[in-house]
Amino acid sequence: MATLVHDTTVIATVQGRACVLHHYSFAFADGRIAELGPATGFETRLDEPWDTVIHAEHLLVSPGFVNTHHHLYQAITRCLPSVQNERLFAWLRGLYPHWRTLDYRAVNVAAKVSIAELLLSGCTTTSDHHYMFPPRRDVQLEAVLDAATELGIRIHLCRGSMTLGAGAGGLPPDDCVEQDTDVVADCVRVLDAYHDPYPFALRRIDLAPCSPFNVSRELMRDTRALARERGVLLHTHLAETLDEERFCVERYGCRPVQFLADLDWLGPDVYLAHCVHLSPAEITQLADTNTGVSHNPTSNLRLASSIAPATDLCAAGVRVGLGVDGASSNDGGSILAAAKVALLSARHRMAESLDKPAPELPTPQFAFDLATSGGAACLGRAELGHLSVGAAADFAMFPVDDIALAGAVAHDPLAALVLCDAPRPDRVYVAGREVVRDGRLTMVDEHALANELNTLVRERFA
Ligand SMILES: [Zn+2]
Repeated sequence: MATLVHDTTVIATVQGRACVLHHYSFAFADGRIAELGPATGFETRLDEPWDTVIHAEHLLVSPGFVNTHHHLYQAITRCLPSVQNERLFAWLRGLYPHWRTLDYRAVNVAAKVSIAELLLSGCTTTSDHHYMFPPRRDVQLEAVLDAATELGIRIHLCRGSMTLGAGAGGLPPDDCVEQDTDVVADCVRVLDAYHDPYPFALRRIDLAPCSPFNVSRELMRDTRALARERGVLLHTHLAETLDEERFCVERYGCRPVQFLADLDWLGPDVYLAHCVHLSPAEITQLADTNTGVSHNPTSNLRLASSIAPATDLCAAGVRVGLGVDGASSNDGGSILAAAKVALLSARHRMAESLDKPAPELPTPQFAFDLATSGGAACLGRAELGHLSVGAAADFAMFPVDDIALAGAVAHDPLAALVLCDAPRPDRVYVAGREVVRDGRLTMVDEHALANELNTLVRERFA
């Protein structure tokens, strides 16, 4: 049975480009878009035995957004006063002792809050980089996986890791890190149990050592070998700050990109979070190796790490997606808010100069593409990030009478989503399943969930 969304405004992909189509209808069944065409062509078919007909004249339909980097558990330490005004390394040093005490319940509740924020911003697929597995605690990847399953989001769950403690020259305290062999064994366990390699998969497992300053080189090598053997993606943080660059030069005698290249850690099966501090030659290197990049502008600005060269990366042909990053360095999970920051920060990099001709400014379409097709390309998911026949039935429906969009949506619906304050979707579908209805999550009570996290924070941070 199919569901018909009738007579609406759709941001559909036509000949590879997102286009606004007015008075269109589309049908979906079995988790995929089955038909798409002018509403007039469906007028005579309204009496067909549709499962449901949604009359959607008052809605703007966008492909579901794809978030390529997150740490869902970090909702438990967002806005934490002691690290509100710190840069990355000091921020991490201030947070490790709190994350050291995490347990299944804390991770699960915080992850549900982060996922709720994503869904309520129209995001239907997220990557999650979970690297905190404190010894002698009951945190396993299932704490996040259970949250994703309960709320209904599509997920790339990254089995992260930290094994290079302060005693061995790394950043995290020794009581926060795991042993290399334990990490590899658990990667095998979660791959066997949960990885779905097929197109339209609702969950995939990616392998993701945390970053050059908290993982051993041996674990980078072993994880890469396992990922290539199993045909899964590799993910890590890279070139986020100058502190990291200094760490790599002092410890490994090279810059971060070369550190990865030496480990055979660049390629079409790799996507890297941040890539803020890149030379022109390194941008070319990422393009030549077809390595993906997750651009996290809000987090980079929050931590004063600087601004990644997103337009240069795109111009070089790198697959670039958008990430909100963890809630402790963004404090909000709206992918549309991140898209706006991506656009504005890219324009900031092109601020007027008397010395050179003004370059053409990036457009709202640039940011929209990062949040949709760019993210899908980053995750190697051709079936996601666009709305067209054969794509996954992942989409968000925004009310055109939302005050945040008023006026703008009548001029330019696509630009309105990027440039205005992020609206809340009326409905969101993941694989054809309704996960938001009337602006509310369908699977859990949003206010009860928020109160549960507030209570947990008050208990644990009293
Ligand atoms: Zn991150």
